[in-house]
Amino acid sequence: MKGLPAETDFVVLGAGVAGLRAAIELAQAGRVLVLAKAQAPSSSSQSAATSALSDEDEVILHLQDTLVAGDGLCRPAAVKALVEEAPERIEETIDWGKQLDRRGTKLVFEAEASYSHSHVLRAPGDSTGGEILRALQAKARTCKNISLLEFEFSAELLTDLHSEDARVTGVSLISEKGLPEDVACSAVLLATGGMGQIYRNTTNLETATADGVALGFRAGAEVSDLEFIQFHPTVMYVKKTPRFLLSEALRAEGAYLRNIELDRFMGKYHPLAEQAPGDVVARAIMHEMEVSRAKDPFVYLDLTHLNATGVRKRFPRIYATCMRHNIDITEDVVPVRPAAHFSLGGVHTDLSGKTSLGGLYAAGEVAATGVHGANRLASNALLEGLVYGARAGKAMREELRLAQRPSSGQKKAASQNGPVDAGIEELIGQLQDIMWKGAGIVRTRVGMQEAIKALEGLAPRVAHPRTRRSQEAANMHLAALLVARSALAREESRGAHYRIDNPGHDDKKFLKHSVVKGERVRFV
Ligand SMILES: Cc1cc2nc3c(=O)[nH]c(=O)nc-3n(C[C@H](O)[C@H](O)[C@H](O)COP(=O)(O)OP(=O)(O)OC[C@H]3O[C@@H](n4cnc5c(N)ncnc54)[C@H](O)[C@@H]3O)c2cc1C
Repeated sequence: MKGLPAETDFVVLGAGVAGLRAAIELAQAGRVLVLAKAQAPSSSSQSAATSALSDEDEVILHLQDTLVAGDGLCRPAAVKALVEEAPERIEETIDWGKQLDRRGTKLVFEAEASYSHSHVLRAPGDSTGGEILRALQAKARTCKNISLLEFEFSAELLTDLHSEDARVTGVSLISEKGLPEDVACSAVLLATGGMGQIYRNTTNLETATADGVALGFRAGAEVSDLEFIQFHPTVMYVKKTPRFLLSEALRAEGAYLRNIELDRFMGKYHPLAEQAPGDVVARAIMHEMEVSRAKDPFVYLDLTHLNATGVRKRFPRIYATCMRHNIDITEDVVPVRPAAHFSLGGVHTDLSGKTSLGGLYAAGEVAATGVHGANRLASNALLEGLVYGARAGKAMREELRLAQRPSSGQKKAASQNGPVDAGIEELIGQLQDIMWKGAGIVRTRVGMQEAIKALEGLAPRVAHPRTRRSQEAANMHLAALLVARSALAREESRGAHYRIDNPGHDDKKFLKHSVVKGERVRFV
């Protein structure tokens, strides 16, 4: 396809695992336009990723592990669908990779210490997410009905809210050429990934600016469980370089954590020491950083006592990346800090990816399916993308029958390219600092109130976005407010949400999901 069509059957926003998997399903029913705002990630740009594959007798263990990690808030039916359908989704992905990709899929099964069962899908080395994506890209290329356009920034959902059947009717975007364009369609899938960029420290790519949550919320869809942000405990900290994730598998393999004095400290915080759950480790690191009183605090991850050949073989990408920063992980300790990693909540959906708004679906990290509850079992995100991407794709096919034939230009794009907004990066930096300080790993009522006030103070500066970057800033600003308001409303600690002033569970009031509509947060 040369350019943007004015009309198509389905629009998929996002070319990650969830978006591509949905598109493959949708291609059986009609024309699918997949839009990405950046180049579709390649296997090398996707970080280390593993994903659990349960065979029949292990489905139950995978289910239990996921429910335990979710700390009471998983939707059991959503988890059941995930663990039951995962094997088929994985097998077909492996097949597509083998059949269609010149290099062939390299996915194999290995053991993973953090699971009570042992079947984990892994590519040799540490780039499983990339291998899955490569197989999906290869399959999508064979589907004539799929058109993938990169660098097309979706700025707004087109809606027809006045008819009886209020629904999404297309998308408005800022095209690669910087022009406002509308595309009408029968149904839209949000598969825009995460929102890590609302925090100063994050493992997420620069594209993770919460666009999907902001688009969905502005159009009137319910968003849910946004207070639950998973922070990865160990991210390499080298000044002025992007944060590089040092997988939890390193600790599973036996890596130690040491404070600035080079003392192991995790034993003080949890009987499992370095093997403690990720959120416990992240909070312990934050505490050690705070008491170190260093201006630029961090702790160390130490693998130097492990077999060097084994480490190089098991973690080639981590080894190579650290070497690029002159750190040999087999000989040197690695400076690390925690960083925002995964958004557990998002645009609320049912088990088929349907949101509360007609014609709008969501899958992958942007969606709140209830699979993860209050905290995510490591490796379930890629599986969620595969299983719920496929489910959303199947359900969306029905929309061709339900929807009126779309016509373009129902509501013009509000955003368009304008002059570069001065000060926009500084504004984004302020927002990221506010969130890191006020709604980060350890939260307090006062801290969150101050964060909300400070964010509200920034509102006039994001009010009229004219460029793609200022639209991203507006999206991050909206998402940050939604996260902070949800976190303030949840007056307890659960899963990834930790409040010093309310350290325990309050099941009576809060064994529920937060839902935001307008400025109100309610628990259902
Ligand atoms: C460093 C790292 C390591 C990870 N390791 C693991 C792991 O080991 N196991 C695991 O299960 N998970 C892991 N995860 C999480 C997992 O990789 C992600 O949750 C998952 O890839 C998200 O997939 P997705 O399809 O939802 O979105 P993404 O893959 O993030 O794709 C989002 C897409 O949306 C597009 N997009 C966004 N906004 C717009 C817009 N406004 N207009 C148009 N397009 C837009 C982007 O260009 C992109 O194509 C890791 C994540 C990170 C960051």
